[in-house]
Amino acid sequence: MASSLPRAQLSVVIGGHVDHGKSTLVGRLLADSNVLPEGRLEQVRSLCERTGRPFEYAFLLDALKDERAQGITIDTARAFFRAPKRDYLLLDAPGHVEFVKNLVTGASRADAALLVIDAQEGIQDNSRRHGYLMSLLGIQQLAVVINKLDLVGYQEAAFRALAEEYTRFLAGIGVEPVQVIPASAREGENLVGRPARMPWYQGPTVLDLLDGFLPSRPAVEGPFRMPVQDVYKFSGDGDSRRIVAGTIESGTLRPGDELVFYPSGKRARVRTLEAFPGPAPAALGAGCAAGFTLDEQLYLARGELATRAGEPRPAVSLRLRAGIFWLGRRPLVPGRDYLLKLGTARVPMRVVAIRQSLDAATLATRAPADSVARHEIADCILELARPLASDSVGLSPHTARFVIVDELEIAGGGLVHEALADPQMPVREKVLLRNYKWETSFIPAERRSERYGQRPTLVLITGPRETDRKHLAKALEARLFDTGRVVYYIGMANVLYGVDADLAREAANRAEHLRRLAEVANLLLDAGVIVVVSAAELEHEDLDLIRTAAPPDRVVTVWLEAAGQSGVRADADLILDAGAPLDAQLERLEALLVGRGALRDVS
Ligand code: GDP
Repeated sequence: MASSLPRAQLSVVIGGHVDHGKSTLVGRLLADSNVLPEGRLEQVRSLCERTGRPFEYAFLLDALKDERAQGITIDTARAFFRAPKRDYLLLDAPGHVEFVKNLVTGASRADAALLVIDAQEGIQDNSRRHGYLMSLLGIQQLAVVINKLDLVGYQEAAFRALAEEYTRFLAGIGVEPVQVIPASAREGENLVGRPARMPWYQGPTVLDLLDGFLPSRPAVEGPFRMPVQDVYKFSGDGDSRRIVAGTIESGTLRPGDELVFYPSGKRARVRTLEAFPGPAPAALGAGCAAGFTLDEQLYLARGELATRAGEPRPAVSLRLRAGIFWLGRRPLVPGRDYLLKLGTARVPMRVVAIRQSLDAATLATRAPADSVARHEIADCILELARPLASDSVGLSPHTARFVIVDELEIAGGGLVHEALADPQMPVREKVLLRNYKWETSFIPAERRSERYGQRPTLVLITGPRETDRKHLAKALEARLFDTGRVVYYIGMANVLYGVDADLAREAANRAEHLRRLAEVANLLLDAGVIVVVSAAELEHEDLDLIRTAAPPDRVVTVWLEAAGQSGVRADADLILDAGAPLDAQLERLEALLVGRGALRDVS
């Protein structure tokens, strides 16, 4: 049957404990779907008779190995066959390192998984391990076949008890099976035709089950996702266009689309699509290298993720639960510094917990584990140094996939299962909405920078209570002002009794006080101003909060140390000794600002 239209193909992984009937199920499925070359079944049967071996449907797979017959191809770990509805690629039980690696890296794809359990033997190690592996690999559809029902007299009660037990296990690892069905692969009960010996059963057959799996959505049909690779600026002839460039991972893009960039939450509309060379295309889709201009002059950094407003949003978080496959010679260990690369984002990362690990070859499990060895796949909680925009593998696998770099080498890959809440989440959500709603003026930030000869920067001066931070902050303001800078010192009281007048000054409101302070500073930063703030004893969490509400790359932190003491609490960019002469302190502060590119024309 030659057809010019490509037939739909679905890849299904078949898992389960050894001897529970996986090969029998595949062999019998082929035999009963009439795809075997003519006479082949009889050939295998008579060979068995001649050699005095009982016939096994699994032998069919061996007999067909490396043979390319019409509608069926079988090799070591895969069986391809044409069913009436569509083509199937059945992948063998996944006890292979390459299998895991290819699925984690996206080199191969599995649309669904089928787990086979022996009704008599019940749930065994690999029944559980395979189920767990499928969930770590992000396979979204999993169905269970309770096989060998003939050995338990086709009893409904036996089937129900096992189905319930295994569903409970799956629920514990966050998986809900699409279906659990009874069968006898050897007897051909409920494989392709309706079962004759299980009148109590009205549900789907194994083939119905396969036909019911949904194909993975092609990338182009997913939500729009484009990691920003670069922003190119035109210069000269009054052309101030900026082209945002990257490769579209999923979805499509058209002029007029409203985009939201994450993690910043900034928003603008696509003005034009650009092509080099050639005319601008009307639309671009997944897989395309894209360039576009926006109707607003946004400051966008590489690593932002472009998405379309109104479509499912990516998560922005400092904590992720992910399945990690490790390839490094040195094991992955909690507490060590790694770099996580997702799209064009690069974020320092640490593992805070390894909930369970699984050896990809032997499927041996350890839970919880203190490290992830080479060729293990593990369920980990990651903590990131900066908020990252990511999708869960269920929503958009293309932007759920990441690699881990250990000392410049790619040492692992992973899949984001979910973004977890982190302490800054409530404030971040407010900031995302603020940035989404933000109205940009006609004056781009760059033009303000050029005129003022500075880049807006928030200088936070903190330290122990007994140091005179306020004096230093005011002196810095005066010095910068005298050298022609646009600078403003925000007195804490000015905010406390003004913007914060409705907030009681109690510990429970500390985060809200800081958020409002950062919002005020953020407005001044947007105006192009260098802002100086002094506050006593800011802790790491306080700084994290301020860096969530104000642009983190525009914040510098200075710790003013009490004379002769040490005990720095905040992660300071500069530590000053309160005992040193004021001029010397100011010079060091100025040098810090020059180093940060805040003071443009100071040599
Ligand atoms: P695999 O290791 O999971 O691929 O298991 P096989 O397909 O090789 O089957 C292992 C053994 O179980 C073989 O001897 C099969 O004949 C037998 N078997 C498979 N399915 C059934 C079944 O439905 N009923 C019975 N009684 N035996 C089965």
